[in-house]
Amino acid sequence: MHAADASPTLTGHDRCDRCSAAARVRAVLPSALDLVLCEHHARVHESRLREIGALLSPEP
Ligand SMILES: [Zn+2]
Repeated sequence: MHAADASPTLTGHDRCDRCSAAARVRAVLPSALDLVLCEHHARVHESRLREIGALLSPEP
């Protein structure tokens, strides 16, 4: 089955960089570094990431 995925930048194989949960959000930093975070860690780090100008997709 190849159902269309609502989050094209992440696959079921992506894991949060902070824990082993499935990644839900990708954060692209101004330095072009990118992080993938689970919902929990996206919320935890959201304000800090925005502060440094990271782009979060999709919005947590
Ligand atoms: Zn996590």
